[in-house]
Amino acid sequence: MYKELIQKLAAGTALTKEEYLALIRNREAVRDEAARLASEMRKHYYGNRVFIRGLIEFTNYCKNNCYYCGIRAGNSHVERYRLTKEEIWDCSDAGYQLGFRTFVLQGGEDAYFTDELVAEIVRGIKRRHPDCAVTLSIGEREYESYRMFREAGADRYLLRHETANCEHYEKLHPDNMSFEHRMKCLRDLKSLGYQVGAGFMVGSPGQTEEHLADELLFLKELQPQMVGIGPFIPHKDTPFGAEQAGSAELTTFLLSLIRLTLPNVLLPATTALGTIDPTGREKGIMAGANVLMPNLSPADVRKKYLLYDNKICTGDEAAQCIECLKNRIRKTGCDIVTDRGDFRITED
Ligand code: SAH
Repeated sequence: MYKELIQKLAAGTALTKEEYLALIRNREAVRDEAARLASEMRKHYYGNRVFIRGLIEFTNYCKNNCYYCGIRAGNSHVERYRLTKEEIWDCSDAGYQLGFRTFVLQGGEDAYFTDELVAEIVRGIKRRHPDCAVTLSIGEREYESYRMFREAGADRYLLRHETANCEHYEKLHPDNMSFEHRMKCLRDLKSLGYQVGAGFMVGSPGQTEEHLADELLFLKELQPQMVGIGPFIPHKDTPFGAEQAGSAELTTFLLSLIRLTLPNVLLPATTALGTIDPTGREKGIMAGANVLMPNLSPADVRKKYLLYDNKICTGDEAAQCIECLKNRIRKTGCDIVTDRGDFRITED
């Protein structure tokens, strides 16, 4: 019966909340079938190609105080750093040599990086590497700022909504942050023509299976080009330091459901998934993911960008990460490729 539901979803029929919920609750019975169909779906649109994005974590200063995040403003144990624009450009040059054709600039919400400075950094990368895509992941700004970044050449924007449930959002964030504004940002980004990435943590404190069913309905409605999900992992110096981590098992199942709901979506197997389970990223790819985001940040700052405890790959050089990932991914029957990996509307 649950297998039929999965097949119905794979055939393109929209599921109701109750149907998603039934699948999530009974996932043991359908996980293999879901992964098989999700992999087929990924192949249909993207072949066996797995795209890589070079992640440049350029600042760990943040004005926000999200209860889950290790670099929250209130964590006084963090040694704060900022990369200079030249350092960021150097990272992109090194990444280009390694075959990266997408750079993701991620950071805390750091006012030092004014709209003008961000735009200058984006323009600099595009000037050096016109064949590359630039993705920003720097949190909430106003429409006018997003417009400037787009004009400077930014192609994509990652802004996880974190949870599609307003009350749950308020349990994860302090009062000065609002669900409404985060949603407005996603709408603004879409209207500006970015390839937009939304997403949420799996197993964040207070999340229920019903919330997860709502996540799938929300994604179906939003139609983002990218979806980033990963298990919540506690960070010891945050209010959620003693909470339970999310599971790799539920995360990979949700990856399959997301692939089947949004067939051509760009879907990363995240570092958090690889942290909670040593072969989590491989499992994610086999469950329908098609993107990996290895770290390109300079080795000396990596241990300072800790959103959660025990983060992997903080000691390796970028080149090592690539070699390691290539070997891992080959075992899944997929291959890492070095094109931009844009969102595709057409089939392979
Ligand atoms: N400041 C940017 C970038 C945030 S970091 C922004 O607001 O978008 C990127 C993502 O890491 C977050 O959106 C969140 O979903 C995830 N993250 C933060 N803390 C985490 C934790 N403890 N466990 C797992 N994922 C976490």
